[in-house]
Amino acid sequence: MSVTEEMICITCPMGCTLEVTHAGKEVLNVEGNSCPRGVHYAQAELTDPRRMVATTVKVQSGLHPLVPVYTAAPIPKPLIFELLAQLRQIEINAPVETKQVVLANVLGTGINVIASRDMPERVGE
Ligand code: SF4
Repeated sequence: MSVTEEMICITCPMGCTLEVTHAGKEVLNVEGNSCPRGVHYAQAELTDPRRMVATTVKVQSGLHPLVPVYTAAPIPKPLIFELLAQLRQIEINAPVETKQVVLANVLGTGINVIASRDMPERVGE
């Protein structure tokens, strides 16, 4: 039996609204996509939905107490809660460099969490 559901493609800023008809995990038809990537997005949403994760981690002796970080690639949605829990436990030492790996091979995915900016050491205490 097939069903049709609405999805928002988040592959690019256009954010097309997709009408996806599928039978279980098999995509039968996609409408509303402005480019072929919308079809790939719909298929991935049904079989292996993933998201980029951006948050902050604590920095010891940093100019600021937190540094923004993000996943280098989208990670499976079911792992996001556990990843955020792990990142809340982490405290890294300043100085931090942009693109520095903060957490490697997140939950065995092969994906790293990296810093999105420099965080220099705090001086003159
Ligand atoms: S279908 Fe294509 S144009 Fe539309 S949001 Fe997805 S990637 Fe962007």
